[in-house]
Amino acid sequence: MIPYGRQSIDEEDIKAVVDVLRSDWLTTGPKIEQFEKAITDFVGVKYAVAVNSGTAALHAAMFALGIRPGDEVIVPAITFASTANCVVFQGGTPVFADVNPETLLIDPSSVEAHLSKKTKAVIAVDYAGQPCDYKILQEMTAHYNIALVADACHSIGGRYQDRPVGSLALLNTFSFHPVKHITTGEGGMITTDDEKLADRMRLFRNHGITTDHRQREAQGSWFYEMVELGYNYRITDFQCALGMSQLKKLPKWIERRREIARRYDESFRNIRQIKPLSVNSQSFHVYHLYVVRIDIESNHLDRGMVFRQLREAGIGVNVHYIPVYLHPYYRLIFKTTSGQCPVAEDAYTKILSLPIYPKMSDQDVAKVIDSFLQVVNL
Ligand SMILES: *Cc1c(COP(=O)(O)O)cnc(C)c1O
Repeated sequence: MIPYGRQSIDEEDIKAVVDVLRSDWLTTGPKIEQFEKAITDFVGVKYAVAVNSGTAALHAAMFALGIRPGDEVIVPAITFASTANCVVFQGGTPVFADVNPETLLIDPSSVEAHLSKKTKAVIAVDYAGQPCDYKILQEMTAHYNIALVADACHSIGGRYQDRPVGSLALLNTFSFHPVKHITTGEGGMITTDDEKLADRMRLFRNHGITTDHRQREAQGSWFYEMVELGYNYRITDFQCALGMSQLKKLPKWIERRREIARRYDESFRNIRQIKPLSVNSQSFHVYHLYVVRIDIESNHLDRGMVFRQLREAGIGVNVHYIPVYLHPYYRLIFKTTSGQCPVAEDAYTKILSLPIYPKMSDQDVAKVIDSFLQVVNL
């Protein structure tokens, strides 16, 4: 089976991890800051806070912004569940905005329609690796005096109007899960230019305690205070060593992803039944996912049928994502219902993610294209 995504690990990565395993610090050691520094240099912001998942990064962002019961945060209908869950972790209410039908990125007009006196923040998701329209989102959130958060878990290395992803919102979150562009096994990071928010997130990842083990050891002191209710969201040094080693290869890997996307684009250009998502001229898309819409009207094609036949042919297609508010948990707790975001729901019946990852061979790409054309031309 050709998977829809997979990690690339080389000998240099392995050596980086093993070197840390032989060192004094497995966690809260020097590699954490080094990885944070590497990411701030890469995205061009002042601060980065490393944590142990993308979900923890989103949770830390909601904590830093002071989201609490009674607050609303606007999120797109089509995203991974944790974009909305992080609001719930803090006792807030996620409010689902619809998406643009051509890009599946959050629709700024739907964001505006869902604003209320309780709205404290908007989380934009760079779906599939394409940055959202940050110019409009920045202006709107500034106008209403609410925070803009970028869930950039799909888009590290991307750019919007020549500004790097990671610098486009007040808080920007990354995930380093193995299907994402670079991996630390599990891991995440938040980037920001706001020192106070960065400090709050450092506190949050360490139980709400003011100093960490290494700082106390350096001071020869046992004293610490817990000033907030935090979590253990710390990442390990060997994970950060892996992250730094991976980051070096990111630009090359993005080029390969874009090359595969170009081949898909060219192959599907004249196929009426297969419509790739649109790319905005202002954005540099880094293709975490390559998503197409299957035209259900023609040839009596049904997405489920295409999915099954491609899986049978050894192509690991996938669907990203079920609109979050349709999950039983949200229906039960937040009384969400189908029909809330019609564009997202319509898109959900048509979308399919095709395999794309840097180590994918040209032969595999050709196999995906051939199998897909065969299935669709039934
Ligand atoms: C992967 C992902 C997350 C969560 O990241 P984890 O590291 O798996 O916790 C959040 N949002 C989006 C859009 C993601 O793709």
